[in-house]
Amino acid sequence: MSRRTTWQVEADRRWPDAMDMVDPAYGNGRWATVAWCAGLTVHLHQTRRGAESSLAAIDGYACGHGCWRDHELVDLAQPEERDPEMERARGERRALHARTCRVCAYVYSGKAPEAALERSKAREISPAGGAA
Ligand SMILES: [Zn+2]
Ligand SMILES: [Zn+2]
Repeated sequence: MSRRTTWQVEADRRWPDAMDMVDPAYGNGRWATVAWCAGLTVHLHQTRRGAESSLAAIDGYACGHGCWRDHELVDLAQPEERDPEMERARGERRALHARTCRVCAYVYSGKAPEAALERSKAREISPAGGAA
């Protein structure tokens, strides 16, 4: 196991690994592309340009199965912003997908709906920026 970098540690804090995520944040760098559709996917990039082209690729095609284009580009050097309304809606949408999707039922052993709701609840109540 190699040591997690500062950016990877920050990504793990913002998007902790859970049963609605196949892998913890992968790659390395300041710029994160985050796909919230179905399973949560976080990919770190060294440059903004790299992150932008990755975002354009998943926006233009799909981030994975069941994609509904809930993707964002996040600069890990900036304070985190969370909108409770949006987090709740996102959590409900992800849970609904996971409840009715056979791929997710298999990949996440049926635990994705609960994990998606737990994640959105935690994001609704914890202050933006978190414990630095
Ligand atoms: Zn997507
Ligand atoms: Zn699914």
